[in-house]
Amino acid sequence: MTKVLVIGGGIAGYCAALSARRSGAEVTVVARAPGATALYAGAMEIVDDLDSILEHEPHHPFTRLGIDAVGLAAELDEAISNLKLALGKDGLSFEGTWRTRGRYADIHGLARPANVVPETVARGELGALSGKRVAVIGVPEIGDYDAASTAQALKQLHSIEAFAEDISIPDLPQAAALTDLYGRRAPAPRARGAAIAYPPGFTNLPPDGFELLASPPSPHGWRLQQAIALGTVSAEVTSFESSGSRITAARAGSRSFRADSFVLATGRHIGGGVRGGRSTIESLLGLGVFYEGRPASSLGTRLQHLEYLDPGEEMKLGLAADRRLHPLLEDGTAPHGNLYAAGAVLGGYGYSGPCGFGIPILTGWLAGRWAAKSGS
Ligand SMILES: Cc1cc2nc3c(=O)[nH]c(=O)nc-3n(C[C@H](O)[C@H](O)[C@H](O)COP(=O)(O)OP(=O)(O)OC[C@H]3O[C@@H](n4cnc5c(N)ncnc54)[C@H](O)[C@@H]3O)c2cc1C
Repeated sequence: MTKVLVIGGGIAGYCAALSARRSGAEVTVVARAPGATALYAGAMEIVDDLDSILEHEPHHPFTRLGIDAVGLAAELDEAISNLKLALGKDGLSFEGTWRTRGRYADIHGLARPANVVPETVARGELGALSGKRVAVIGVPEIGDYDAASTAQALKQLHSIEAFAEDISIPDLPQAAALTDLYGRRAPAPRARGAAIAYPPGFTNLPPDGFELLASPPSPHGWRLQQAIALGTVSAEVTSFESSGSRITAARAGSRSFRADSFVLATGRHIGGGVRGGRSTIESLLGLGVFYEGRPASSLGTRLQHLEYLDPGEEMKLGLAADRRLHPLLEDGTAPHGNLYAAGAVLGGYGYSGPCGFGIPILTGWLAGRWAAKSGS
């Protein structure tokens, strides 16, 4: 049986482990800490316009796979349905597919698009709320959330007939934080006949209740991270052993994890897969970090100027991989035939944009499958 080691405990590592196991591999996942997945707002963005990406974005990880739109669509269908199934077994239900797209309000009433959302968020799709009365639940003891402003924003920005209803939770201290609500049972409002918008974190929502999206720290992210971390080994990989062009083991302190193939799903700046500085580097294996298909180290001050004009440019930096997700060195060669890269560690797209979860899910799914097969 092929042994696969996945390095990274975010959504990319989870999808890689799922598909490697499905392909018959024995999988170990190691992660040092939660990464960006634990901060997500609760709105999985998979992809907006796949055809446009393939036509206009040559460095985007979807395009670099060299799979046509029909093939990518089939892979996305399979990856997302398996992910939803697995998360369901781990206690989290999600709704939507990469083909559906809705808009959901966050705790400030601002809308965010998403393809796949937790079941508890799905009922708050803004289009579906149109024409309904919405009670926005406020808790006067909470200092960092104001239901009246959220209701006002829902009215003004989305023409929803929203109003705030405060419900006191007396055992909370004054100026408590939203995080103090996590895990508490949802209080029932007085308002009848209205949909009920709750700040995220409550449990046992009534049938007409839904959760708003979060800003960090995020109960949606925390729940997801808890579910996907089951069975993960807590360790920080610091180096690798290799024989010729094949990696044979990953070292974490005094421990050595031997495997036939390896998936690098270490995330970007928050996960720790790349490190910013004078120039951004991948420090575990010295892999190339690219910007628009060119090594970032060759761009000198041009990149700094671009980042000065738009800090989002820094977010496009990351690894580049060949069509089989083997990560490349700066000279464009893939040094290790049994190493795969997946998730936000890959560059070529803005990871807070419309493929925030699409890239980790799909590249994780493919990397896991290919890693399982490469050792056999
Ligand atoms: C604040 C915020 C909000 C976001 N909200 C959304 C959203 O609502 N919708 C959306 O679609 N996208 C969102 N995104 C983007 C999305 O969350 C990320 O693109 C996605 O979670 C990345 O997943 P990942 O598995 O690739 O990386 P991560 O989740 O960052 O995981 C990387 C993992 O690798 C581990 N790791 C790194 N180095 C090592 C090592 N040496 N040894 C062992 N383990 C290591 C880390 O500890 C971590 O477990 C958001 C991002 C941020 C920052």
